[in-house]
Amino acid sequence: MQKNEIYTVTIEDLTAEGSGVCRVDGMTVFVPETAVGDVLEMKIVKVLKRYSFGIPVKILTPSPDRMEPDCKHHCPCGGCTFRHIRYENELELKAKIVQDAFQRLGKLSPEFLPILGCDTRIRYRNKAQYPVAADKDGKLICGFYAKRSHRIVPVEDCLLQPERFGRVVKAILRYAEEKKISAYDEVNNTGILRHIYLREGHYSGELMVCLVVRKSVERELKGLIPRLTEEFPQIKSIVMNVNPEKTNVILGRRTVTLYGSDTITDTMCGNEVSISPLSFYQVNTPQAERLYGVAKEFAALTGTERLLDLYCGAGTIGLSMADAAGSVLGVEVIPEAVENARENASRNGIRNAQFLCGDAGEIAARLAAEQMLPDVIVADPPRKGCDAQTIDAICRMNPERVVMVSCNPATAARDCALLCQRQYQIVKVQPVDLFPGTGHVECVVLLSRDKA
Ligand code: SAH
Repeated sequence: MQKNEIYTVTIEDLTAEGSGVCRVDGMTVFVPETAVGDVLEMKIVKVLKRYSFGIPVKILTPSPDRMEPDCKHHCPCGGCTFRHIRYENELELKAKIVQDAFQRLGKLSPEFLPILGCDTRIRYRNKAQYPVAADKDGKLICGFYAKRSHRIVPVEDCLLQPERFGRVVKAILRYAEEKKISAYDEVNNTGILRHIYLREGHYSGELMVCLVVRKSVERELKGLIPRLTEEFPQIKSIVMNVNPEKTNVILGRRTVTLYGSDTITDTMCGNEVSISPLSFYQVNTPQAERLYGVAKEFAALTGTERLLDLYCGAGTIGLSMADAAGSVLGVEVIPEAVENARENASRNGIRNAQFLCGDAGEIAARLAAEQMLPDVIVADPPRKGCDAQTIDAICRMNPERVVMVSCNPATAARDCALLCQRQYQIVKVQPVDLFPGTGHVECVVLLSRDKA
């Protein structure tokens, strides 16, 4: 097989990255932007030892799974993976990704519940972080990265975000151009405006605007405040986050409040919750409520249990379960999120919840050593999963049930496999689609102590 050769192939499978998979003379070839069942001509663009990459040249027979992408930015914009296949096929694929992770990577055979799809494929996000750059004429642009690249594709209105976000971004860029606030240059670590980060309370409609800058431009931003708040009265918070580092981590440690509050407030599972820009908050609110609902059902609390909520963020999961638990203890590493969690408990009159700030593994190890033994543990780690110390401490605390909530089936399967080498057995897995159109999928796992 050689570069530039053209083959006629049938797409047999799809990867989580949205690439079609086909075979040519026993060699696996990945072809992006295709669907299972497509018969197409594809051109080889890269040949490796075990697999190759192709691009579609001409679709001969389109797959029945296909649909016309609803977004005018789709491809080149790399934000979405699945705008060209039907939602039911996307859900099928996501269910399979979860199943494969647990069965193949984890060598586990739990019960898989049917995936919970989202009622809407568009405008479900409550948060966007748009990178800013200058185009070749020096004009400020803002959008999303092209696939596997740091080239920004300008996007005026992303279908995953509230429609209002596009207009807020436009107003900010117009102002920055007037005031000659430059775009950040990530190669040389020069320039000012790095990201425009927006959040909207799904139920409250409250808006937060966070401008991520390389160095403080507080004075230059003064005129922006009346302009934004007059046009968008929903804005409750404008902050400037300073990130001087040469890094692709978006937020820096220092945040300055320029207008209003340093948090916005929303409702999650019936609780009023305030969230700081640095705090994690699920991006799809209604679907997160379903996710937490499943976690609560799996936790099977009867009103007396001690619940440990590891990686608790602003406390949302633990607080949604506090009415059914004896006590809740949340653990989270970001101080602002812990502050939010405490405030969220008190503003909802929840008196049986406490929160500790620190590394989940270290605190869990300390709790285990002090014989502070929870009956149920909920763990909702970041994409990289739990570390060995956390898994070990969970086992030493020996709760009756562990409920794992995860946005990465591969690390969830790995962590569950480790728990299953000890005193736990995996019972069931509930995949939940929080991110329609993208390659991401969330799941909730129930593990119970005392193997059958
Ligand atoms: N349960 C929360 C947050 C889940 S996201 C919710 O549903 O909203 C994962 C959280 O883990 C983030 O808040 C992140 O800040 C936190 N985190 C990441 N590494 C951590 C660590 N080593 N120890 C404790 N918390 C950590």
